[in-house]
Amino acid sequence: MHWPWTPVEHLSGFQPPFCPRRGCPEHVRLAPGFRFERHGFYGTRRRWRIPRFRCRVCRASFSRQSFAVSYYSKRPELLVPIAAGLVGGSAHRQIARTLGCAPSTVTRNAARLGRHAILLLALTRRELAGQANEPFVFDHFETFEFTQDYPFGVGTLVGAKSWFVYDLDPAPHRRTGHVSSAQRRRLDLRPQRRRRGGYVGSSRRVFQRLRDVTSPGTTVTVIGDGHEAYERAARDPSLEREIVLESHPNPPRGPKGSSRSEAARLRDERLFPVDLLHKLVRHSLAHQRRETIAFGRRLNAVMEQMFLTAVWRNFVKKRSERNSRSGTPAMRLGLTRERWPWPRVFSRRLFPARTATPGTWAQLYRRLWTSPLYENNSTHKLKLAF
Ligand SMILES: [Zn+2]
Repeated sequence: MHWPWTPVEHLSGFQPPFCPRRGCPEHVRLAPGFRFERHGFYGTRRRWRIPRFRCRVCRASFSRQSFAVSYYSKRPELLVPIAAGLVGGSAHRQIARTLGCAPSTVTRNAARLGRHAILLLALTRRELAGQANEPFVFDHFETFEFTQDYPFGVGTLVGAKSWFVYDLDPAPHRRTGHVSSAQRRRLDLRPQRRRRGGYVGSSRRVFQRLRDVTSPGTTVTVIGDGHEAYERAARDPSLEREIVLESHPNPPRGPKGSSRSEAARLRDERLFPVDLLHKLVRHSLAHQRRETIAFGRRLNAVMEQMFLTAVWRNFVKKRSERNSRSGTPAMRLGLTRERWPWPRVFSRRLFPARTATPGTWAQLYRRLWTSPLYENNSTHKLKLAF
């Protein structure tokens, strides 16, 4: 996978490879030969002599910054520490106190990082097209938005051998488990939320998208915990690949400390890659800790963090931290030869119109999975900074 090392902000001889304006025919150019003219420089207190250019087709002017993940940002130096803080177990206000910025700056940057992660993962999937030939492990990670009355699972598809995170898809569902009568009254007063197919819909979307990464005509093995929704989704006639489900239902376990049954041992072994990912998410994201005051408020924002975590898991974090030679999941798949430091992840801005993005992901990018609890569901619909 071709992905540059040096952040575009550090390039002195930078030449724009395409026009950054969405409406311009030169925006989707893939081949070299973009015609532009130089258009002077500008500077700010933090950065000076940033070259400007003008597109010869649409005559719009733009600068080198239009190609940086830190486009329009007044504090570009915060991008990397915020990303590291988010997957290092810090909540937004804690990061803001450490970095000396406003909490709202962290919140806005978290959304920007999440959008970048969505597109980077989409780009990776295109790179992998037809080549993923390992079994997959699939399970839903349970979380909620704003209140436990609005729970949702996040379908996570992980490579059984590479541990690469291939796909994420939210599944809003009704509250389960014991509900007291007071909780029931409150629950009945809450506005209804669109479920978008719940577990079955989420699993079906993930299984449908397997056609993007696996080769045609192959049978795909998906290891799961025997959830009834997975069986239903795998039988869906719209799937272009035959899916064989290997089910390991959660066996009854004895008291703490008692030895595991053979079925429990097998289940833990086969679902290990996805169990490990979910443990890492609970351990590394402040939102997803048990008994926390830092829970996620909006499904869209939670998903942005999940995508950032997936990119971190795939490219930045080693498979094993104890073993100095263990590479990343992306290295295991042959996508790249090195571990990526954070600055490399953010070395180029990605544009949604140039990156084929699965439908659900494109909706999450624009923050369209709104919650009925809020009068103001801020979506992402900027024109130039989209
Ligand atoms: Zn143009």
